[in-house]
Amino acid sequence: MATQSSVLITGASTGIGATYADRFARRGHGLVLVARDKARMDELADRLRRDYGVAVDVLPADLTAPDQIRAVETRLRDDDGIGILVNNAGANVGGGFVAQATDDVERLVTLNTTALVRLASAVAPRFAGAGAGAIVNIGSVVGLVPEFGMSVYGATKAFVLFLSQGLSHELSPKGVYVQAVLPSATRTELWSRSGVDPAALPPMMEVGDLVDAALAGFDRRESVTIPPLHDAGQWDAFQAARLAMIPGFAQVHPAPRYASAA
Ligand code: NAP
Repeated sequence: MATQSSVLITGASTGIGATYADRFARRGHGLVLVARDKARMDELADRLRRDYGVAVDVLPADLTAPDQIRAVETRLRDDDGIGILVNNAGANVGGGFVAQATDDVERLVTLNTTALVRLASAVAPRFAGAGAGAIVNIGSVVGLVPEFGMSVYGATKAFVLFLSQGLSHELSPKGVYVQAVLPSATRTELWSRSGVDPAALPPMMEVGDLVDAALAGFDRRESVTIPPLHDAGQWDAFQAARLAMIPGFAQVHPAPRYASAA
């Protein structure tokens, strides 16, 4: 039997990350689980070893703490057995921009963007050298909708989408698959953690359905997977409109609408 690569999953103690852990274990992959809550990950690891007979390591780390994320980067650089990185850890801060504390905003940006890009940067050279590997980055449809009023969270998710598309462009010729997954509202602890009353929440996608759909996109090697979007043609049209602008960017003279009145 071919040996399956292991999967390092961040934010694996609950929610989308824990569900990815279950699904990859079911497929026979060994796992490295990363989050802060060691006890929760130990419990999940025990269950996955028992149910699926796979090897599961628990690597507790606060990804916003420079000394702790470095240990995860080292593992990604040095462990040739890891062939898939799922960059899932993420958070939101409740309230509008004016109400959000500056330190909370910085922590959010650090977790959702800096940590994610550091881990991708740690592993990409090894994957590219091997001509194989996959990086899955969990974004959000909020990154496409400034009108939702979740400006900082959405901006971090726009970063995740752009980074993923750019890395896909750079790394797919080297044999490395990069996928951005854009969930919409999904039933996890994310909402209560950001101060939203769960009772006030509208109906939302179940986490198992979300991850199974994301893995269908993974198996098809989609570069961008948007599980809730039923009309895939809308995404294709959006990309076509963006690509159509590119020749227009290569201009020596400003557009006539910016001609100075002076
Ligand atoms: P969740 O249930 O709140 O889980 C978040 C995970 O991230 C937990 O395992 C948490 O574990 C970990 N985490 C949080 N802060 C961390 C830190 N400083 N260092 C390391 N790990 C940390 O949220 P979720 O809904 O599964 O979210 C997963 C991803 O999906 C996030 O990137 C989120 O933005 C994205 N997403 C979620 C939704 C949604 O509606 N749920 C929609 C779109 C996108 P510990 O507390 O143990 O550290």
